[in-house]
Amino acid sequence: MRNIESIIVHCSATKAGQDFTAADIDCWHRERGFNGIGYHYVIRLDGKLEKGRDVALAGAHCKGWNERSVGICYIGGVDENGRPADTRTNAQKRVLYQIIMDLQREYNILQVLGHRDTSPDLNGDGVIEPYEYVKACPCFDSRKEYMGKHPIKYPFSLSYFHCTFAFAILHELLTYFHYDTRTIYLFTGTVSFKRSESCEISAT
Ligand SMILES: [Zn+2]
Repeated sequence: MRNIESIIVHCSATKAGQDFTAADIDCWHRERGFNGIGYHYVIRLDGKLEKGRDVALAGAHCKGWNERSVGICYIGGVDENGRPADTRTNAQKRVLYQIIMDLQREYNILQVLGHRDTSPDLNGDGVIEPYEYVKACPCFDSRKEYMGKHPIKYPFSLSYFHCTFAFAILHELLTYFHYDTRTIYLFTGTVSFKRSESCEISAT
């Protein structure tokens, strides 16, 4: 598997309200001489997430960044007058956020950028300013929106097996300390009679 460090967000630069699919973009990119769709994910107007190029393969969406990034494209990015605009529907915003969280959970992502943030830093001040943008894509500030937004990562994955195992250990420990295991099943913590006492109770 290649080393994935960045997530780069794009727009399809198509007009608001016009829906296109990953298959459409696949055609456009093939016409441009690419080896199929350059993005790894496409988010339709209704929030449907479509897979593009296999994530294991380097994309073709951002020159100089393809080897170590995942490219996500939402459909839209241009208003009725053909000007760059954040045209994301609520469903697209929700799914974009979700896929960014999922990818961060899966890979060691260092940064989430918009395509425009990969423009060259012309004045060398360390900040890519709007006048330096090569393109407006994806027509909103991805860094501001996703900076510091990380999913909760557990050091282990919680599965049925883990829960059963943890419960078995807890059961053993409580038995060791002579507490009646029935108190655990109650899950209240208020009933904490000892085994000897419970025997007396059951005898009466
Ligand atoms: Zn782009």
